[in-house]
Amino acid sequence: MSVRKPPLNKANLMLQQEAIDAVRGQTLAPRGHFIDGRSIASDSGDVLDIISPIDGAILTSVAAGSKADMDRAITSARAAFEDGLWSKMAPAQRKKILIKLAELIERDALELAVLGVRDNGTEINMAYKAESLSAAGTFRYYGEAIDKIYGQIAPTANSVLGLIHHAPVGVVGAIVPWNFPLMIGSWKIAPALAAGNSIVLKPAESASLSLLHLAKLASEAGVPDGVFNVVTGKGSVVGEAMGLSMDVDVLVFTGSGATGRRLLEYSARSNLKRCYLELGGKSPNIIFNDAPDLAQAAKVSAAGIFRNSGQVCVAGSRLLVQEDIHDDFVAEMSRHAKDFKVGNPLDLSSQIGAVHSLSELEANLQFVQTAQEEGAQCVAGGKRILSETGGYYMAPTVMSGVKVEDNLHQNEVFGPVLAVTPFKDEADAIRIANSTVYGLSAGVWTSNLSRAHRMIEEIKSGVIHVNTYGGSDLTVPLGGVKQSGNGHDKSLHAMDKYFDLKSAWIQL
Ligand code: ADP
Repeated sequence: MSVRKPPLNKANLMLQQEAIDAVRGQTLAPRGHFIDGRSIASDSGDVLDIISPIDGAILTSVAAGSKADMDRAITSARAAFEDGLWSKMAPAQRKKILIKLAELIERDALELAVLGVRDNGTEINMAYKAESLSAAGTFRYYGEAIDKIYGQIAPTANSVLGLIHHAPVGVVGAIVPWNFPLMIGSWKIAPALAAGNSIVLKPAESASLSLLHLAKLASEAGVPDGVFNVVTGKGSVVGEAMGLSMDVDVLVFTGSGATGRRLLEYSARSNLKRCYLELGGKSPNIIFNDAPDLAQAAKVSAAGIFRNSGQVCVAGSRLLVQEDIHDDFVAEMSRHAKDFKVGNPLDLSSQIGAVHSLSELEANLQFVQTAQEEGAQCVAGGKRILSETGGYYMAPTVMSGVKVEDNLHQNEVFGPVLAVTPFKDEADAIRIANSTVYGLSAGVWTSNLSRAHRMIEEIKSGVIHVNTYGGSDLTVPLGGVKQSGNGHDKSLHAMDKYFDLKSAWIQL
């Protein structure tokens, strides 16, 4: 691949429209799987059409994987693990290769972002930072980390030596969703590779393109053949084959609760592989009347639910507002919702891009209709827009008067639909916040430091934001409690999933 002119204006880290325009219309050849260091067609020759949410047109196709394809990738990953080229490579050498991969991702950052936007619909500004640049940062972080992780000597009696080693687990299977394929994929691939494992990745059937490109870059960086494989196709076929494999040691997943349950069943029916599941949320964002800056709270909260059309697992999709500021705050949120410019995600002027698929769009609209039937009021949005483009766009939607028992309060929409519920006092806010099966993320806006600490303690979620919403970096773990899942991506804690602890007891 040729080295491109950097698309960044270094002075302000902004993408330039002309750089996007130069690549947005490129014809995309059909893609095969990436197994054992090369691109191959599906065993059956079948393909899946990839529909672009930007205009509803067929973009290209990917291999429609079969069980045979998945088995082939797992066999290749196992052979690569056993030959030791990667798994026994000195960590300092693995580090060089992962950092080289980070550089190659930066080299191709624009191409990767545009590829991803064309099949998933995320606004390009966000994709460029949250997908391409963040993926590069993730490979750099775990590359840098891997030669700084030590084993331990146990505090035994002098007559013995107790050693605690970190051993790679073997073959890691990763199943990722379509909303941020490169970012979420990298959160799993980078620490798994850093630890010395081989990996088989299954992207969402509708959003594989950027991850297939990433696999090629890994090969270019020097990751040996078979260490990083990508098998595309349907979850119910290749995902199931991965889940039921007797030769996958650890399965890491981000997606829906329904699929998470299936993966646990597959594990129980096969080799008891460890499963780490990130299963979404219905995250409460709580606005107290003593918030330091209500205008800022509304602005950040609107971005926290509407960016990427609400297709964000940590989206603040339940807004809990203290009664005495409720009406004014909801009016401000509605104003922001109506002000967002929704449009072609490859135009830098669009603040919000497309909903990922027609079926997602229809499901979002159904949530709105059901909420209205249950007594909620639609105060902004609530409808499909820009249908003349052929693409799938939805107006940012604010539903007020949502009760705790309502469908919209209890279930994840995964779209640009905000449920607003008033609360009386702190105890009421905690009760409502904890009233769903989920526990991924939360937000609290208050000037009262003691209250902020009490909320951090009382809200059952893996992540909590105070006087902001949605911010984080690689240094903090991301994972859920309750039915939002288990295990963590990001930070050094993510490494725990990809190592076995091995003890040695040596008689001296
Ligand atoms: P979403 O609602 O976000 O699409 P899914 O759980 O359906 O969530 O999809 C997340 C990932 O899980 C995708 O890669 C999808 O292909 C995969 N998947 C879906 N069904 C299964 C299944 N039965 N077994 C394994 N993986 C699956």
